Amino acid sequence: MRNRADIMGVLIDKGNLEDALKRCVAFLGTQKCNIVITPNTEIVMEAQKDLALFKTINEADLVIPDGIGLIYASKIRGKGLEERVTGVDLMHKILKHCNDHKKSIYILGGKPGVAEAACKNIKEKFSMIGIKGFRDGYFKTEDEMKIIENINACKPDILFLALGAPKQELWMGKYKEKLQVKLVMGVGGSVDIWAGTAKRAPEIYQKLGLEWFYRLAKEPWRYKRMLALPKFMIKVLLCKQ
Ligand code: UDP
Repeated sequence: MRNRADIMGVLIDKGNLEDALKRCVAFLGTQKCNIVITPNTEIVMEAQKDLALFKTINEADLVIPDGIGLIYASKIRGKGLEERVTGVDLMHKILKHCNDHKKSIYILGGKPGVAEAACKNIKEKFSMIGIKGFRDGYFKTEDEMKIIENINACKPDILFLALGAPKQELWMGKYKEKLQVKLVMGVGGSVDIWAGTAKRAPEIYQKLGLEWFYRLAKEPWRYKRMLALPKFMIKVLLCKQ
């Protein structure tokens, strides 16, 4: 039985990083395509107006609270989310598990060359991982079935999808019946971090819950998207439920 917190109708799994990893390891022993989603406040706000996104998140097999705003909201409303569980940390743990248990991955997403560089760096750190394939994330809709056929032919255990949010979540929702992998996880910019084309915020920002601020300073053009955070907090403070 899952223990989930309801944040504006979006259901988010309670627990810490280790709990999330345990669930993912269990997914690798199943025969279905399990979906892992890592929402922040932007995605929760987006899901309020996008029914397909809302459904995909609430039907996913694991939803972790990646955004600090979700933790604040949970604390204000007493919803029981204790701490942030980030996609980048969970991806790292999953990769370590893959290394220790000889599991395989495929990375789809990022600009041309990014998924390939990420795979190379992952293989350097975790030599026992099977790299089954990679592909950039800039393709035409009409090529999607071919891409899925290629992923299925490569037979990876895990598909990491880095198409940016909410594109990657909608993509998973659309194709979960067709993807023959045990786990598909939306990892967004984590692939750029693995490729070395982006840097994660220094630990002090992470500890202070200011990773969003670091990202805004590095990528100021994101400010419009990031306005979702104050809007979200106002909604949390003003709404009774
Ligand atoms: N991306 C992609 N295809 C697209 C849009 C984005 O492959 O059509 C990639 C982009 O190059 C980047 C990753 O998705 O590597 C994450 O994008 P973004 O930083 O916008 O998303 P977030 O990390 O906020 O989910």
